[in-house]
Amino acid sequence: MSEVYPVEFDAPDIAPYKQGNSGVDYVTTFDSGQPGPHAMIQAVTHGNETCGAYAVDHLFRNEVRPKRGKLTLAFANVYAYQNFDPASPEDSRFVDEDYNRVWETEILDGPDRSIEVRRAKEMRPIIESADLLLDIHSMGTFSTPLILCHGLEKERRFARAVDYPEVVVCGSGHVKGRRMIEYAPFNDPGTEMTALLVECGQHWAKTAATVALDTSLHFLRAADVIEEGFFDTHVTVKQPPPQRMLEVTDGRNAETDDFQWVRDFDGLEEFENAGTVVARDGGKDVTTPHDNCILIMPRRVPVKGERVIRFAREVT
Ligand SMILES: [Zn+2]
Repeated sequence: MSEVYPVEFDAPDIAPYKQGNSGVDYVTTFDSGQPGPHAMIQAVTHGNETCGAYAVDHLFRNEVRPKRGKLTLAFANVYAYQNFDPASPEDSRFVDEDYNRVWETEILDGPDRSIEVRRAKEMRPIIESADLLLDIHSMGTFSTPLILCHGLEKERRFARAVDYPEVVVCGSGHVKGRRMIEYAPFNDPGTEMTALLVECGQHWAKTAATVALDTSLHFLRAADVIEEGFFDTHVTVKQPPPQRMLEVTDGRNAETDDFQWVRDFDGLEEFENAGTVVARDGGKDVTTPHDNCILIMPRRVPVKGERVIRFAREVT
């Protein structure tokens, strides 16, 4: 389980996008001049998740422009991304701390405790001006791609409209720190601001790059900010299979340094019976908490004290 998977596509050079037009490095906003939503696509929230950079670079090079509203293309943790090395691709997730765990007002109002908090502060006004946000990620395993959201009705509605990739997982994420999609204005049912996170598959698989681009295109089409012709020209999966909506029911942290899966799991494996053993943690069984239980994002290399698995059930 400890081998590193091959890097199948090149991480694009993003230096040409440093000088954007928004006043924040690596952030560019195109304004149609017409009324409409402000849609934003964000890549490299984690520096080793290069599929988002592939998608955003593709959109830039093909001169995507909004037909109404505004479109922002952004690279988030550029400092971590600049450290990406195909010879040790796992080492560039972040520089000082996880950029996707600092989205709490208290942290953002506090001191510049890390490169990531400083960058989040720069990005904050841009994020706060977005009506619709797509945050692009990838995974350690070859799991089927997933949309993740907190589960608010506005998120479910928009995820249904995006309609790609086929699996949507609703539920709170991590034990410590808030993800960007859970940042206050997105988590407020009283606003229309809506954020979705996509996990495009294994970090460096060519398919993850294709899924990242396809998700971006389906997202922009659902927001109704791009021309149908642009969508048709660049999309790979035009008609996705029917969507599946899953609800997170439980989560588990590794309690010891000796957490072992009973076999390799990629994610989305389903177990009919409650009590099925899926792992052992310090010699104790880890079991499915209910019937028809689906594994979500099993962590390939478990770390004591950190989330290693979520359990879910299908709701539609
Ligand atoms: Zn990520």
